[in-house]
Amino acid sequence: MNDCLFCKIIAGEIPSTKVYEDEKVFAFRDINPQAPVHVLVVPKEHLASANEITAANAGCAAACFEAIPKIAAAEGLTEGYRVINNCGAAAGQTVMHLHFHLIGGRELGEKIV
Ligand code: AMP
Ligand code: ZN
Repeated sequence: MNDCLFCKIIAGEIPSTKVYEDEKVFAFRDINPQAPVHVLVVPKEHLASANEITAANAGCAAACFEAIPKIAAAEGLTEGYRVINNCGAAAGQTVMHLHFHLIGGRELGEKIV
């Protein structure tokens, strides 16, 4: 856990631009934004990826999805937005702490699904 970048951001040991925080969730701006709004929504509990979600810990993922509409509204994403999770290296996950990309603020165009 000590080596986890997002755990360090949540703890304030590495700076970030926070946009939202509650008991279970921390959200901050992506350092390499892919759209005018690109926020990372992260459970405070360390799970390496979506693959580690279980009945016992799913509350932290649910809390992220409760936070997302609030963050989207605060960011002015009235026209819609996209939520992305990369699970595992083959899917492009580079930080092994569960996170959801909240992206919007421009026409998002071509979809994968
Ligand atoms: P993923 O590739 O799905 O694991 O997403 C990791 C995201 O973390 C990427 O979009 C990076 O740009 C972002 N990122 C990496 N380091 C930082 C940081 N220190 N602060 C904010 N975002 C970061
Ligand atoms: Zn972590």
